[in-house]
Amino acid sequence: MAEASSALRARVVAAALNLAATGLSPQMSGNVSARAGERMLITPSGIAYTALEPGDISEIAMDGQGAAGPHAPSSEWQMHAAIYDAFPEAGGIVHAHSCFATVLAVMKREIPPFHYMVAVAGGRNIRVADYATFGTAELAHNAVAALRGRRACLLAHHGQIAFGPTVEAALHLAHEVETLATQYFHALQLGTPELLSDEEMALNVEKFRTYGRREKS
Ligand code: 13P
Ligand code: ZN
Repeated sequence: MAEASSALRARVVAAALNLAATGLSPQMSGNVSARAGERMLITPSGIAYTALEPGDISEIAMDGQGAAGPHAPSSEWQMHAAIYDAFPEAGGIVHAHSCFATVLAVMKREIPPFHYMVAVAGGRNIRVADYATFGTAELAHNAVAALRGRRACLLAHHGQIAFGPTVEAALHLAHEVETLATQYFHALQLGTPELLSDEEMALNVEKFRTYGRREKS
């Protein structure tokens, strides 16, 4: 049990280091967590990722009780807890202030079906959650609402959040969201891209359910 938790801590640190190394989230912005049974492991608040070690990761119950670790847990623990609560399939979460996702989020522009890859987030679009102050239950509520039927959303005037079955999957999706936001932003410079139909996007969502998986023989 203790071993499993230390391996999971190392995976949370690896994801946080990736945010720093790739520049997906500037400075100390963003946060990373993994579900650990009834509790979660989450990056500490306001600590530079490059200095993180497994022992710095906070452990906290989903209701905020019994926080353990040398630092305060991420100020966004309520947003992470609300996502684990609302989406039982969520095993890891990455929140980032990635550049182009944030550009769209400050303009409250959702990512529409301009590219088939939008379906990787679970639906025809990537929505923008209504603004609320960072670190509040209201932001947690707004994020969950924008995530219904999805695995990622933008956060108005803030950034983006993505979840997946594992912390690595959540990190991968956060990178995909940033790529899509970058491509959409650039496409808008040339005009208004045509959008794929709801039917086509439903087909793409379906294809992503089995994408990359080996056919059973
Ligand atoms: P923390 O350092 O508390 O995780 O906050 C960063 C952040 O992105 C808040 O929204
Ligand atoms: Zn943030």
